[in-house]
Amino acid sequence: MNSHEFIHPEDEMAMRNLEGVPGFDTVARFILEHFTENLLHGLYMAQMVRISPTQLPEIYNLLPPICGKFGIDLPELYLTMDPAPNAWTIGDKRKFIVLTSGLLDHITNKKELQSIIAHECGHILCRHVFYNTVAILLVNFGESLGFGQVVLAPILLAIKYWQRRSELSADRASTVYIGGPDVPCRALLRICGGPDNLTKNINLQEYAEQAKAYDELLANSKWNKLLQNMAVMNADHPFAAVRIREILSWTASPQFDRLKDAMARAAVEPRCPKCGKRVTAKAKFCRYCGNNLKGVK
Ligand SMILES: [Zn+2]
Ligand SMILES: [Zn+2]
Repeated sequence: MNSHEFIHPEDEMAMRNLEGVPGFDTVARFILEHFTENLLHGLYMAQMVRISPTQLPEIYNLLPPICGKFGIDLPELYLTMDPAPNAWTIGDKRKFIVLTSGLLDHITNKKELQSIIAHECGHILCRHVFYNTVAILLVNFGESLGFGQVVLAPILLAIKYWQRRSELSADRASTVYIGGPDVPCRALLRICGGPDNLTKNINLQEYAEQAKAYDELLANSKWNKLLQNMAVMNADHPFAAVRIREILSWTASPQFDRLKDAMARAAVEPRCPKCGKRVTAKAKFCRYCGNNLKGVK
């Protein structure tokens, strides 16, 4: 699947805007040069549980088929102890998906977990991960890296705005992978904190309508718009009602039907579970890392 076929227009626009912010290229290049994936790997390995074919395999096994369908190399998958339900993807050449224990606590339905992992893989497919990494590092260490607020503040605003828009494209990727809006929308509701016995009865259309009321509020006054901008300025994700509305309206488009059919027809390209590189279906050993591929589909 090619990200150009489904990327959300607001994501594309926000990314162009971000690339045009003065100083952004310098900061991004600085991070690219100084941020080492080996360091990140070491830190993650020391603090988190690496999910693998032999460690929590029931979770791990959801990952390779998604990567196979999307045509991306397998990222590393980690579990971190954090009661807040969350997932993120970080890295550049080597990529790491992190799921929190709170997420796995909330999301007990296999399809919904698939949709969340597909969302993260969607970020990889859309090439969001490097900018996302820049965002995470800047938010946490921007000032200690020596960047002054004058340079940092406009970059942070633009990057956070882009991050929120980028969610809409990743939502599209997971919706295509799952084949319809229902599961990804319910997974979103669940992440907002709703347990299964509540969220399974929520009417999605009616919930999405709430986003319309919010849009009208913004359209009617500049002051409201300003307040709204202040409210979301530091948020990583757009409001759930907005995301659900965007998923529902996109799945009603012919573009979605076309991609869904293409996804259903796409063969799953096998990946080596050890190094994540593409292997052929007949290979007995991975030609990149020598891993024994017996039993890998
Ligand atoms: Zn996301
Ligand atoms: Zn390998």
